[in-house]
Amino acid sequence: MTWTLLLLAAAPGPLTVRVLEREVRDRVTLEAPRLACGAQVSAGTRVFRVGDATCPALTAEGPVTVTVRGVKRTFAGRLLASHDGRTVQLLNVVDVEDYLPSVVEAEAGGMKPAALEAQAVVSRTFALTAHRHREADLCDLAHCQVYRGTRAGPDARAAAQATSGLVLRRGEALTPAYLHAACGGHTSSALDVFGQPASGTAVRDPHCGAHPWSFSVPRAALARAFGVKPIGPAVQPVRRDAGGRLLSLRVFGRSLSAELFLSTMGRHFGWGKVRSARFEVRDAHGQVALHGVGVGHGVGLCQRGAQAMPRPAPAATTSSRTTFPKRSWARRPERPSLRRRPAPRRRHRDAQLLR
Ligand SMILES: [Zn+2]
Ligand SMILES: [Zn+2]
Repeated sequence: MTWTLLLLAAAPGPLTVRVLEREVRDRVTLEAPRLACGAQVSAGTRVFRVGDATCPALTAEGPVTVTVRGVKRTFAGRLLASHDGRTVQLLNVVDVEDYLPSVVEAEAGGMKPAALEAQAVVSRTFALTAHRHREADLCDLAHCQVYRGTRAGPDARAAAQATSGLVLRRGEALTPAYLHAACGGHTSSALDVFGQPASGTAVRDPHCGAHPWSFSVPRAALARAFGVKPIGPAVQPVRRDAGGRLLSLRVFGRSLSAELFLSTMGRHFGWGKVRSARFEVRDAHGQVALHGVGVGHGVGLCQRGAQAMPRPAPAATTSSRTTFPKRSWARRPERPSLRRRPAPRRRHRDAQLLR
């Protein structure tokens, strides 16, 4: 493994994060040291009120406290509020280091320091390479990374600080980074699962338990979900990757990708029932039973594996050696050309399922 440490010469630009989308409707309250009435985003026909001001759009300089529908949240950086005539939209423009502690807390809170540090590096890399929404780099939901403003415990803050500026690189490029809940003993490559060559390889993870799961469904219901007749073998594996995850399969003779299979299963039978693409099939007595291991897509950092590493690892490194053997830790590159290679857009429901 090659280790590359570069001094950070210039910080990348701030992130733009769409926040509180589920809570915001037509009225929010903002508290901030500075509030400016001014259109950052073109306004619709309605206005919303902030204090005594009536503005079509406004800018608040942090720390900004937002109260909406009983939710109160504080954000560092700037908050841009606008509306499209029906709903208010809030965008937080924030430095990645201010963004990170809350993400580490939400995504890995309660884990050991080494796992938190590994999470911090992966989440930082993910954020800096993401441009997953039309008007923002990220949202604050699990679709991107869960972010709740400045809310974070001391351990999450310490992990972000201990790894400040550290990102995952492949050669000179800062490439998208992924994580998942539990690989079940073997990770998968981004090339196999996402069709993307740049982020993570398939390796054995000796620290991860199997995390077994089962899901069973009547043959007729399965056929209905896929719009086919329940004739012949229900689910036939066609191709698996090095980690044992299905890449393609046949459902009652119809060929499809594992990704489409998982999203269809999630839509029809509930998200999180089929917990990974690493499963075997039993088709008997009118029932199709899937017996699998692992949780999530299996690409990149395995959170359970990182948590289960036997020794406390120094500064974010050990747990990610397991899952990123070909990568190197590095300081954030200073040249703009190395920054912000966009991550592929993934549909919301798939990401929810696969995380
Ligand atoms: Zn998102
Ligand atoms: Zn694992």
